[in-house]
Amino acid sequence: MAEVPYFISLEEALLITKTVGLNLESEVVDLDNAHGRILFEGLSAKVDDPPFDNSAMDGYAVLHSDTTSPPTELNISAVVQARGTTTLPTLVSGNAIQIMTGAPMPPGADAIIPIEHCEVKSDSIRIQIEGKRHFIRKQGENLQIGKEALSQGSLLSPSRVGLCATMGHWQIKVQKQLKIAIISTGDELKSPGEELLPGEIYESNAFGLSGLVKMMGHEPIRYSKVEDNLDGLRKTLDIAAKECDLILTSGGVSMGEWDLVRKIMEEEGRMKFWRVKIRPGSPPLFGEWKDTPIFGLPGNPVSSHVVFRMIVAPWLIYATGADGPTPTITKAKLIDQVKSTNDCLTLRRVTITPSEEGLEARQPRHQGSGNIESLASADALTLLKPGQSGNIGETIEVILL
Ligand code: AMP
Ligand code: MG
Repeated sequence: MAEVPYFISLEEALLITKTVGLNLESEVVDLDNAHGRILFEGLSAKVDDPPFDNSAMDGYAVLHSDTTSPPTELNISAVVQARGTTTLPTLVSGNAIQIMTGAPMPPGADAIIPIEHCEVKSDSIRIQIEGKRHFIRKQGENLQIGKEALSQGSLLSPSRVGLCATMGHWQIKVQKQLKIAIISTGDELKSPGEELLPGEIYESNAFGLSGLVKMMGHEPIRYSKVEDNLDGLRKTLDIAAKECDLILTSGGVSMGEWDLVRKIMEEEGRMKFWRVKIRPGSPPLFGEWKDTPIFGLPGNPVSSHVVFRMIVAPWLIYATGADGPTPTITKAKLIDQVKSTNDCLTLRRVTITPSEEGLEARQPRHQGSGNIESLASADALTLLKPGQSGNIGETIEVILL
């Protein structure tokens, strides 16, 4: 245990995690399953966007030179709808072609008059305004064929999935999701749905961590909870190390006699740090179990969640080269007093509301690290540096949840 960095700053902890990398593999998925996945390679447009000049409005395609001295009377010579066609009517001077949003521009036309500016009669229109050469969406104005619009590592949000489709891709190469083991430890834990005996509580960390893993674009594998005994823990860690790319444990990393995750890592694992200067969440450890990276998260529900957000999530982004999800850090004025610490980055749970002077942070809840409700009802965590006051009226940094 002698050389393992102990009770280090968050920055040091993050640096140490970056000494451990991952082997990334790829797979091809349909667009239907692309949301939340990470692109394995850059993606280029197979077509121009838009693929042809088209109208941005419902209205009439006209010759601009016909409309320069309103009012203008024009005959309606044809109709063009938004649909695939190989024949388009040509516009000749003195005429207008009725056109729908997204329909290709008829040859000869160089302006669109929106329908709201036209007085429509049975076979002619009267235009009261001077036409302009706008409301035409030009071929390739958004994207040109061959342009790489999404780079390797892009986390596919809904709009990015839409962009993949616009570029003509139906199947895309993404990173295989990491399989992330979640192992809860503790004799007192019962699954929700079961009856609690005196002294027992419901196991909640694995469910919260599972959601966080999915939020990062990966696959959580929840293992049956492990009782506080070394043999059971070793067996589960061995299985998880074989089956998964990363192991998360919860509980058993403090200084107590039954804190067996810490103990087994000290004796049989490769521990790279233990304890970090953040509060809540100071007990975590990081290392490798049989060559699989492992984060030992604290058992207190708020702590396990906070450590995931502050340490595990940044490492996952680093190790996969993903461009997100990145949390927003912003400033807010404290409306309530927030207790800081002298040695740790203090991460209190606060609600955030806008005001005319900017964002305001309030701390309405009891801040115990066992109080998951205080996290569920919070919008952000404070980023109070060691010794920073946390007084009412102070503007501080917060990280949005
Ligand atoms: P430990 O780190 O194992 O000492 O646990 C610290 C506190 O967190 C104790 O009050 C545990 O009962 C509680 N705890 C540990 N694991 C979980 C879990 N998976 N879900 C909810 N609470 C837990
Ligand atoms: Mg425990």
